[in-house]
Amino acid sequence: MSDRRRFLKGSLLGVSASMLAWGGKLAAAPATRGGQPAAGGTAKAAARVVSTWDFGVAANQAAWTILGKGGHALDAVETGVQVPESDLKNHSVGKGGYPDRDGHVTLDASIMDADGNCGAVAAIEHIEHPISVARRVMERTPHVLLVGEGALQFALEQGFRKQDLLTPEAEKAWHEWQKTARYKPSINSEVHDYGSTGMPGGAHNHDTIGMLAIDANGRLAGACTTSGMAWKMRGRVGDSPIIGAGLYVDGEVGGATSTGVGEEVIRNAGSFLVVELMRQGRSPQEACKEAVMRIVKRRREASKTIQVGFLAMNREGEVGAYAIQHGFAYAVCDAQKQDGLIPSQSVYTTSYS
Ligand code: ASP
Repeated sequence: MSDRRRFLKGSLLGVSASMLAWGGKLAAAPATRGGQPAAGGTAKAAARVVSTWDFGVAANQAAWTILGKGGHALDAVETGVQVPESDLKNHSVGKGGYPDRDGHVTLDASIMDADGNCGAVAAIEHIEHPISVARRVMERTPHVLLVGEGALQFALEQGFRKQDLLTPEAEKAWHEWQKTARYKPSINSEVHDYGSTGMPGGAHNHDTIGMLAIDANGRLAGACTTSGMAWKMRGRVGDSPIIGAGLYVDGEVGGATSTGVGEEVIRNAGSFLVVELMRQGRSPQEACKEAVMRIVKRRREASKTIQVGFLAMNREGEVGAYAIQHGFAYAVCDAQKQDGLIPSQSVYTTSYS
């Protein structure tokens, strides 16, 4: 994780003037009122895909193999987020993710389309692509969310392969963490200190890919997938599989997704809030900022040391983001440019630890 952070810091420092201008152009797209295009706005945007963090660049490019050919936004987001899910160097999404405090890699994912169809899995183990299981939940069950053992059982029934997701590198990091952890694994241990303040993962041991796409036919879809907070309590579920928290899409308005400390996003129904604010006429950037400020207002002290970032795209393809902490970035890909990475604005403008 720290390697990736270093890379991110470096690459953001290297953001070119043209890229920032391009980001400005994105933000200058026509505003919407009540979900309707403003005068002069286009009802149908050109295809575009956006996602959280620097690992979103490669994910977007995979999504673009579908969007660029006129494919469906839902297929694009599923294919896109599978990239970090399979990336063993990515310790916060999918296989290779850091485990919970007892050494289990448990994954959360959700997917949603413009018509309110959605599916999710929470705390699923042994499956490399939880996003695809989430899609099966959406398309092949009467339910929205399956968790833990039941989610795994469903995945195996659907033909997904059971595998070990804990890589030697992640296991080593887990052992290192145990040396200094305030609380210990609860298995075979008499120590039951859950640490009621502060997050177990620290400032940098978590992240999520949240992806939003609009296709050439104007269809919106979103996906969100993560291994969650490193060293979390067994059974802990974050915002990512909670529809309205980690992800929300409404075809009349747009979509939003989040990354960061999931507990704070859940408390504020963050992604739903961002979409509703856009429905009321806020730009994606304004809506993300207001959702962040709600968290900061409620958790003034805690917000100094935690990160939450929102990313949103309205149905015109206008994009915005906002975070509590400096360092959040989002990737943008469309017909003009496939490897854009744009630094988000934030409440705090210096690095945090
Ligand atoms: N939102 C994720 C969670 O709380 C982690 C992150 O994106 O940093 O599980």
